[in-house]
Formats: sequence, structure tokens, C-alpha cells
Amino acid sequence: MNSTLRPRHPEKINRPDNPSPPKPSWIKVKAPTSSEAEDVRNLMRSKNLHTVCEEAACPNMGECWKTRHATFMILGGVCTRACAFCNVATGKPSGVDPDEPAHLAESVAAMGLRHVVITSVDRDDLDDGGASQFVAAVGAVRALGLGCSIEVLTPDFRDKAGAVEAVAEAGPDVFNHNLETVPRLYPGIRPGAGFELSLRVLSTVKRVDSAIFTKSGIMVGLGERYEEVLEVMDRMRESCVDFITIGQYLQPTPKHAAVDRYVTPDEFEAYAAAARDKGFSMVASSPLTRSSHHADRDFELLRQAHAASR
Ligand code: SF4
Repeated sequence: MNSTLRPRHPEKINRPDNPSPPKPSWIKVKAPTSSEAEDVRNLMRSKNLHTVCEEAACPNMGECWKTRHATFMILGGVCTRACAFCNVATGKPSGVDPDEPAHLAESVAAMGLRHVVITSVDRDDLDDGGASQFVAAVGAVRALGLGCSIEVLTPDFRDKAGAVEAVAEAGPDVFNHNLETVPRLYPGIRPGAGFELSLRVLSTVKRVDSAIFTKSGIMVGLGERYEEVLEVMDRMRESCVDFITIGQYLQPTPKHAAVDRYVTPDEFEAYAAAARDKGFSMVASSPLTRSSHHADRDFELLRQAHAASR
């Protein structure tokens, strides 16, 4: 089927619309119209690569792409899960592109990145959940010899044996896996995933190599309670997570989960203060915080915070 005719979310097409409240004044989204953004777009097309920035319709694209900061999404552009919050196209993916890691590395060099973030779609159809493609991508970037730091943002690999260990052993500087929301909301928001499994991903990374920084994020505004978010923070700290990100959920289409409410900037600041009290080395909490927003700057701050605490 022609991909332009294929719906992005076939499983949601017959669902009723879920209206969200209008956006408040503090959610401001700039379109990615700069010449730098056009360069990034052309590079991705020429290399047959995807970015989560575009596929997830990230509100920060205008800002990030102006500075040529983009987050690569490997293993193709079609996800095997159908989370209620995510705009990435769902369905049956095609085969894995063996040239993708090399093309990604070439793009990192062309963009002059000093910190690269590599994420992926969920590939529950693959025996290793796509772990070997992460390993290949990390290896291809390392082989450039540019001293570029590497952050991976992985799925849970559906608990496939050895998958998390393999990616951790590839030696990324930061291993991110998002918990996304509080456990009570998993069945509606993140079906097919498990809160405990996701925590295990994070603790496994530290078990393999305690020098890797771990990072995890949640969206708020989905109906969670303040105390539930604090409990998630506690569970993250029990798993030795170094860096927490907290951002406002925004509804990608009317068929996705509705925004329950817009959390105010003051509430984000209260979450940030609570997270710092709980011992995270690095905290990013604001309405437009996303996992990879300012990832290069935040990695530097994380490194400095860690060094200062030793
Ligand atoms: S915040 Fe991340 S996903 Fe969003 S545009 Fe920036 S790099 Fe891309």
C-alpha cells in the first residue's frame, strides 16, 4: 500500500474523538521553518533516516532543529505497539535496514553533533527486540572517532533475553528508558508495557555497568495525582536512576488519549524541587520538557553534577 494513503494509526481510526481542553498560554510551539531545519530534513531524507522529532510531532522541533539537534529513530518508522499517547505510525514494520547504523553515523558527522540521541520504534516482531541495531548504531558512531557522547532511549525490548544487557555493553554514555506515566494509568496509556518491567530495564543497565548514566521520564497531565508522581520518583531512585525528565502530555490527534489537564509551570517547579530532594543528579521539569530536549547540555550538567558529588 502507498504509505501516503496508509493511516498512521489504523487501530485508532474508528475510535470516537477525545476532546482535550484548549492549550494554555504557556504552551507555545514554534514551527520548524528555519533553513537549518530544512537542512536537517533534507539530510534525513537523503539518508533514509527517521527522527522521533518529526514522527512524534514534537513541540520543540522549531527550537531544536534550528540548532541542528535532532533525535534519530532507528529500526524504521513503524511501531509494533499502539500506545495511547504516541504519534509514531503503528502497524507491521518492514525489514531492518542494515545500512541504517552507517547512515546514522554519517549524519552525526555531517551535523557536527557532540552528543547524539538514538531512539527507536518498538520492534516486538524481532527476536532481540531490535537490540542488535542499537549495538550497531552505537558502534558506528564510536567508530567515527569524533568523541561524540552517545545517549540511547530504548524500548523495553519486550523483556527479550539479553537485549538490555547487549545495549548496555555497547557502552552508551546515557541509557534512557521512559516510564511515561504512573503505574495506575498503564492499562489505558501504555498497554503492552509493564511498569515493573520498565524499572527492571533501568536497574539492569546499572547492574551491567554502573558508570552509565540512567535517565527516565514521565508525562504529566494524563490524570495522575501528585503523590503518584512522587512514588514514581521513589521507584526510579530505588533503581538508581540519575536523571528524571517531566513534561506535559500533549495530544497528537483527537483519537489519542485526551489531556486531562495542563499542569502549571509552578507545579512543574514543585516536581523539580521534590525530585532534587529525592537525590536525582539531574532534573528537567517544565511543560515542554521532552526526553531529548537539550540532551547535549543536560549531559554535560549531569557529568559535572556527578563529578562534584564524588
Ligand atoms: S525535544 Fe527531542 S524529539 Fe523534540 S525536537 Fe528536540 S530533539 Fe527532537
